[in-house]
Amino acid sequence: MKDPELTAEEREVASRIKLLILDVDGVLTDGGIIVGHTSDGEDVELKRFNSLDGMGLRLIKHCSIDVAIVSGRVSSATTYRAKELGIVECHQEASGIKLPIVEKLLKERSYGWESVCMIGDDLVDLSVLERAGLPVAVANAVPEVKSICKWITKVPGGHGAVREICEKLIKARGMWDEILNDYSSRKP
Ligand SMILES: [Mg+2]
Repeated sequence: MKDPELTAEEREVASRIKLLILDVDGVLTDGGIIVGHTSDGEDVELKRFNSLDGMGLRLIKHCSIDVAIVSGRVSSATTYRAKELGIVECHQEASGIKLPIVEKLLKERSYGWESVCMIGDDLVDLSVLERAGLPVAVANAVPEVKSICKWITKVPGGHGAVREICEKLIKARGMWDEILNDYSSRKP
């Protein structure tokens, strides 16, 4: 069934997507970083992820969309979450220079920029968002990011923004009902 929330043009753009690039801080999280240390003096950094996003990222595997994390911050919390979600392409680049990472991912897959959806929130995401076929800003993104994006999520990062986009990408392919039926007919 076609999603009435999407225009024909949006459906066309979304149905071309083969690679979903995710920023972490402010997109998969609300941007908060909890820092501290253990009794042994070891530094600890924690982030709060949202289970709705996790489920959305599992669901889009049905659509053969590759998912890659490209973060400008190195954190074991991100590595942990990526592993839990089965996201192999987890790139953390402290310099914040993301473009070469995404270019390499595209080259490896022989994909063009029209295949890329990126969800971002801050200036370090601009270089990729400017080239992506479907640039998406979360509701909490800075104005410079929002101004160049095709879609802006209803909810902020860390509160289901990634899930919102996963559902739209699935619905653009007309696969949402199939997934719902699959879940509602599941038996133990
Ligand atoms: Mg960010």
